Amino acid sequence: MQIIKDKSQLKGLVATLKHRKSTIGLVPTMGALHEGHLSLVRQAASVCELVVVSIFINPTQFDKPLDLQNYPQTLDKDIALLQELDLNIVVFSPTATELYGNKIEAEHFEFDGVELEMEGKYRFGHFDGVGTVVKKLFEIIQPDKAFFGEKDFQQLQIIRKLIEKTGMPVEIIGCPIYRESSGLARSSRNERLSDDMRQEAPFIYQSLLQAKEKFGTESAKQISDWIEQEFKTHPFFKLEYFEIADSDSLKTIENKQLGTPYRAFIAVYAGEVRLIDNIALNY
Ligand code: AMP
Repeated sequence: MQIIKDKSQLKGLVATLKHRKSTIGLVPTMGALHEGHLSLVRQAASVCELVVVSIFINPTQFDKPLDLQNYPQTLDKDIALLQELDLNIVVFSPTATELYGNKIEAEHFEFDGVELEMEGKYRFGHFDGVGTVVKKLFEIIQPDKAFFGEKDFQQLQIIRKLIEKTGMPVEIIGCPIYRESSGLARSSRNERLSDDMRQEAPFIYQSLLQAKEKFGTESAKQISDWIEQEFKTHPFFKLEYFEIADSDSLKTIENKQLGTPYRAFIAVYAGEVRLIDNIALNY
């Protein structure tokens, strides 16, 4: 496994591979790798000759400086985990200056309003940062395919919009949410939960499953009211949002339409720790 920090070195490697017509897959991450990330890497390796795993804590996608400061940096451990997979992987872990130059700033994007929903409302400028870094990675690596988790479903749709707007020739592949046996979506933030919170955290996924069951017979409003009530009385969790939305536009729905795919999205605070999850409701 090769570890590259320098973008010109990576560009050189990419040029050689392109010449040989090898398929390149990209899995962008911010490190602190866990089984969720590794499931993306495995999926990429099953269809690509080389997988580039980028490990870069992107400063422009954090709206709170403290969040950025506290983000776990575990590069050596991440590299060891990837090495154990024994796959054809290149790790790209540039510094911020290497990737951005001297101006560490986000480009502004309009993604047909997808950027203004949910995470866009609560994390100001977040998707400009995500769009900026992913565009830079695509330009350097020129992957044939890029793999993103449905865990961050809105981010996945944002990247699809990025491709639509820029015309970059990258196939975007959404990968299923990797869950712990309790149903809790795997996240590096789970490590920060107290024992009590961790025991209770599957409640979030259980609520989504019940929302899905109710979706057959109840309106979006009835389900949202029910979820709000469930969380109001919960001793540990504070609901930030629960929304039932069109899976493509991510617009909140009032009435269901036959033939349209919908998803439920949730963001919850467990003490200081913010957890997100989502579920497909029909298709
Ligand atoms: P992050 O390092 O948190 O930015 O995540 C990097 C990629 O891994 C993103 O595409 C995430 O959606 C994906 N990811 C993180 N956790 C999971 C999970 N539990 N299941 C599937 N994909 C995940």
